[in-house]
Amino acid sequence: MKQYKFLDLSATNQRYLSDLKAASLRVIESGRYIGGEEVEEFQNQVSELCQTPHCVGTSNGLDALRLIFEAYKILGKLKEGDEVIVPANTFIASVLAITHAGLKPVLVDPDIDTMVLTAEGIEKALSDSTRAILTVHLFGRIAWSREMAELAKKNDLIVVEDAAQSIGARSTTPGLFNTNMAGSLGHAGAFSFYPTKNIGALGDAGAVCTHCSQLAEIVKALSNYGSVERYNNIYAGFNCRLDTIQAALLRVKLPYVDEVNQHRQEIAQTYCDTISHPLVVAPPHPSDPRECVWHQYVIRVRESMRDKMREYLKNRGVETDIHYPTPVHLQQCYKSLAQSKLPIAETLANESISLPINDSVTADEAVEIAKMINSFYMI
Ligand SMILES: *Cc1c(COP(=O)(O)O)cnc(C)c1O
Repeated sequence: MKQYKFLDLSATNQRYLSDLKAASLRVIESGRYIGGEEVEEFQNQVSELCQTPHCVGTSNGLDALRLIFEAYKILGKLKEGDEVIVPANTFIASVLAITHAGLKPVLVDPDIDTMVLTAEGIEKALSDSTRAILTVHLFGRIAWSREMAELAKKNDLIVVEDAAQSIGARSTTPGLFNTNMAGSLGHAGAFSFYPTKNIGALGDAGAVCTHCSQLAEIVKALSNYGSVERYNNIYAGFNCRLDTIQAALLRVKLPYVDEVNQHRQEIAQTYCDTISHPLVVAPPHPSDPRECVWHQYVIRVRESMRDKMREYLKNRGVETDIHYPTPVHLQQCYKSLAQSKLPIAETLANESISLPINDSVTADEAVEIAKMINSFYMI
C-alpha cells in the first residue's frame, strides 16, 4: 500500500545536501563555532527577508520569545505581573515565554474558522493590567488586522509576534512600522527554525526581529550572559545564542523560503478544492494567498468522528497528526489557568486533524488524500 508520510525531514534536506555539506565543512574548518561571520550573515539575510532593520539569532524559538519579554522588562516597558494577551490554542511555548518572564498570560479564544486571534477577542480580554499582545501566526496564517493595530495603538500595548510557523508570510494589512512580512508587523517578532518548521535547521535555532535598535541590543546581550563586551556584564543574562553551524546551514535553506511556501500554498489549494464531505470543515483560504504559508493544514471533523477519520486514513497509509491535542489551560503545568472558559480552544483540540503538507507531498497525492476523506463512511 502506498504510504503518505506526515513529514520526511531527510527527504526535505536531501535537495540541499551538497550545499549543506559544504556549509558544515566550512564551519568545521574555520575553527569558529560560536558567533562570527556565519551568524552575522544569517542575521542580515533574515533582516532583509523580514523587513526589519535588526535581527538577533537565538538558540530556539522559545528563547527568542522569552528574550523579547525579558528585554522589555529591562527597558521598563513591562514589569512582573503585567498581563499579556495570547491565543489559547497556541503551541505551549508561546505561553511558557510569558510565564518564564514573570508575566501573566491571558488566554483568549481564537476565531474558530481561521484559528487565530481577532481584534474582538483581544478587546474583550483587555484589563487595566494589559500591557502586551502576543499574536501567533498559527499554522502559518497572519493574525493581524487594522482593528488590531488600532487597539494596540489606542491602549499603548506592545505587540510581539510569535512567527515561529510563519516565516515568509505577507500581511495585506501593514504593520505598526508600515511593513508587511510576518515578524515585522509589531514591535518585535520571534522565529523558530526547529527542524519541522517551513525553514528548519538541523537542530534547534531561532531569531528575534525588530524595528527597535535598543531592543535588539538588549536581546543580543541577554543571549550572551548579559554581556555587551567580554567580561562586562550589564544584565544577569542567559546563554541563548544561535550556533554558528546552524546559522551556516540555515543560510543555505533560507533563499528557498518562497519556493517552499508556494509549494505548501499549492497543496493547501488542492486540499481546499477537492475536500468536500458533510462532516469535514476545511480551513478558509485568505483573500490574498500570501497571507498564509500553511505550516499545517488543519481540518475539523466532528468530535465523535475525529478519531475514526484518523484511523480510517491510517488504514489507507495516510499519516496525520493533531495540533494540538491538549489546550494550554488543560495542561498539568498550568493548573493556575484551568478555570479559564475557552470553549473554542477545547473544540479545536477535540476536532482537529492535521493532514500531510510538506516538501515531499505532491498535488496528485493531496488529491488522493482528499478523495479518501470524501469517501469516509460512504465506502
Ligand atoms: C515551534 C514553536 C515555538 C517554539 O520554537 P522552538 O524553536 O521549538 O523553541 C513557539 N511558538 C510556536 C507557535 C511554535 O510553533
